[in-house]
Amino acid sequence: MGEVSMEVKIGLEIHLQLKTNSKMFCRCKNDYQVQDDPNTNICPVCLGYPGTLPVTNRRAVEYAIRLARVLHSEINPNPVFYRKNYFYPDLPKGYQITQYNEAAIAQGGYLPLDFKNRDRKVRIRRLSLEEDTARSIQTDEGEVLLDFNRAGIPLIEIVTEPDMHTVEDVRKFLENLRMVVQLMDISDADMEKGQFRVDINVSVGGGERVEIKNVNSIRDVVEALKYEINRQKEEVRKGNVIKQHTRRWDDYEKRTIPMRRKETEDDYRYFPEPDIPVLSIAPLMDEVESGDLDDPFALFDAMAAKVSPEREGYENYLNNLEILMRDRDREAIRFFRDAIEDEEVDPMVASKWMINQVRNMDALPPLDQFKKLMVMVQREKLPAHKVKDFLKRIIEGAILEELLKDLESGPSDEELEIIVRAVIAEHPDEFERLKGGKKGLIGFFIGRVKKQNPQADPGKVRTIIEKIVEE
Ligand SMILES: [Zn+2]
Repeated sequence: MGEVSMEVKIGLEIHLQLKTNSKMFCRCKNDYQVQDDPNTNICPVCLGYPGTLPVTNRRAVEYAIRLARVLHSEINPNPVFYRKNYFYPDLPKGYQITQYNEAAIAQGGYLPLDFKNRDRKVRIRRLSLEEDTARSIQTDEGEVLLDFNRAGIPLIEIVTEPDMHTVEDVRKFLENLRMVVQLMDISDADMEKGQFRVDINVSVGGGERVEIKNVNSIRDVVEALKYEINRQKEEVRKGNVIKQHTRRWDDYEKRTIPMRRKETEDDYRYFPEPDIPVLSIAPLMDEVESGDLDDPFALFDAMAAKVSPEREGYENYLNNLEILMRDRDREAIRFFRDAIEDEEVDPMVASKWMINQVRNMDALPPLDQFKKLMVMVQREKLPAHKVKDFLKRIIEGAILEELLKDLESGPSDEELEIIVRAVIAEHPDEFERLKGGKKGLIGFFIGRVKKQNPQADPGKVRTIIEKIVEE
């Protein structure tokens, strides 16, 4: 008997709520943060009253165009909206306005999996614009409550090809997509608030695909997939055939559970939405400008190119750039990008201070002050503890030039004692010997302190060391 193939293929369908002011086809407020009382942002259009007319939200179309560009997708200049017909309590119209196959707003494209290895990518099949359905909430008493604030919130649906083969691929893809849309600022992509919803399609050993729904965090996606891949492999080993069906992730029991059989597409009776004309978005495509942070991979490359790959520490520099991008702090990324635009600033030095210090501080320092400080670090004019101190103080509003004047007049007694104690802590053996009577070692410690702060007065340092020896 030959070895049974156990190749795992995973594709994803992501629904992304867009951060527009109003809904997809009406002027109701888009409360994507779920802050308002239920059923307060509603009107005859999003409640599906007969005779109402949907009007397409221009901003949502712009966001889709920008995202399609980042994903290298081909934008369709004449996208069509369709009706997807089905009955469900969260859909009083009896149909959802969505897009369908080649008529969707964009086709094809890809998203890289890694910053540093750009060969690994997941192909995108399609990007569609559609409206969200109402939110249904099950009470403990078994009643179903409906909140129509969510009905009509603009969604982008992203369907990938089944190009992911491991749980790790999936985790990377989702983190990258979330990073992209958050840096673009077109969605907060908060999974717990339902702004970034993931359905997983997974097949093992050439079997039919199984869909997993109701997964509410990237961590749950990982757990659900691990469980489902093992389950399917077990079935294949037993010689069972896996049929296409839908399961849901039970976060409490930590397993996937079968749901209804998946409707086939014919069940939905798609047909073009007669109330919305075919869009002509070619003029809009010319008009819409991409945001400066729309493509984090391109920005990463541009920043990486500022340092020669031959230079020692280049790998660390790339790691620092990746940390910066993955933090998804738009202001911090812009700050660093602008800092290294200055040719006087060494990107490698600046990246170390950015990641090790500035990143952990409450606010960003003024850009010009940061750049001046970095130039001083490059000239090795300042010991590390002083740079840290200065960063903190320029954030608080101090002026670097003033701090430098104080520095020239030498450290205060308190500052000096801190330095001395730090040096002693780094050299415990020498200090024990000094305490034991090897007085000559005092010169060793004075030298170390002077290295940390050239302005330190040797007489004062000696007094402090003698005091500590007596303690
Ligand atoms: Zn409305």
